[in-house]
Amino acid sequence: MKTDEDRPEAPGLYVHVPFCESRCRYCAFVSGTRLDRMPRFVEGVLREARMRSWGPEPFGTFYLGGGTPSLLPLPLLTALVQGLREALPLDQAEEWTLEANPQDVTREHLAAWRNLGFRRLSLGVQALRDDLLKSLGRRHDGAQARRAMRLARDQGCDDLGIDLLFGIPGQGVADWTETLDEVIAFRPEHLSLYALTPEGRTPLVRAVARGAIRLASDAVLARLYRAATDRLRRAGYLHYEVSNWAIDAGHRSRHNRRYWRRVPVLGLGPGAHSFDGARRWQDLRSLEAWLRRLDRGLLPTAMEDPLTPEQVRLEVLLLGLRSLEGLPAAMLGDSPEARSRLGRLIARGLIRQRGDLLVPTDRGMFLADGMARLLA
Ligand code: SF4
Repeated sequence: MKTDEDRPEAPGLYVHVPFCESRCRYCAFVSGTRLDRMPRFVEGVLREARMRSWGPEPFGTFYLGGGTPSLLPLPLLTALVQGLREALPLDQAEEWTLEANPQDVTREHLAAWRNLGFRRLSLGVQALRDDLLKSLGRRHDGAQARRAMRLARDQGCDDLGIDLLFGIPGQGVADWTETLDEVIAFRPEHLSLYALTPEGRTPLVRAVARGAIRLASDAVLARLYRAATDRLRRAGYLHYEVSNWAIDAGHRSRHNRRYWRRVPVLGLGPGAHSFDGARRWQDLRSLEAWLRRLDRGLLPTAMEDPLTPEQVRLEVLLLGLRSLEGLPAAMLGDSPEARSRLGRLIARGLIRQRGDLLVPTDRGMFLADGMARLLA
């Protein structure tokens, strides 16, 4: 079993793989379907890794996300990993995660990903009902998702994360909990549950705007979330962040905890976000623009944001209210007004005090954004 706290301050490395076989209807992530650009992308990431001056401190985590990293052909993935190992202090990273779509999970891939160092597999299952998967525009069906989870287990994957969506039009509490029960039966070490939300300029947003689709109301989302929270608590999972559950404290996502604890993370690839402790920046989102900039020997940064003390305070407040990490009570000050607002949240069972920390309850995490606005 993984230990809980290991050099939590060591930075994380995130590489964004901006390719998918097709675009899902709800997805606003940076990704395209020009798979013939994959070799150029790998060259670009390695060039960017060499160009970003990032101190000598070894990385503690490595996360390959997307997009669909599992689409990368094995020779390219191998070249990417080897090149990154040469360019960056990656060898001591204790958590290596690869995001995969169910249709890419084969015996051969599982063995190769493991040999390359990826011990943690994050599987985008999203749903198990075929009609729901189809309505989302996913390419896999329920049978493929079940087969992928089974195969991962049979091939010895002992750090399996499953992503699911709730609030999909047509999904009721009964079939949502049935899906959860089926997934829980595989005893994944980690679960991430996200509400389907209209974001960016996606087909989902357009369909909602013209009235062709009605999304779940806040009340329905809250019911589905509560059902999941109860189910997972009974199954022994630790609810450690608004959208994340772990089978035990040692299987919380070390990489994602770096974002929540404001630990530096270097992001490489189109649209990737980085944080060095004082500044946040994002890479250009367009693959072609990102490549052109690198070809000219320039960093592909789109925007850079030095944080003001007030921004830092708001970040700490919001991140603290979204996770079991909590936040120092002293942050809220001791004016009668601040004390009375906090008292109301405690009385409503949304926050509890643990020593010098304020920690959200299960219900409170779901309302973290609203609480942060109230306490800001
Ligand atoms: S949801 Fe995942 S698989 Fe679908 S388009 Fe977005 S990144 Fe690709």
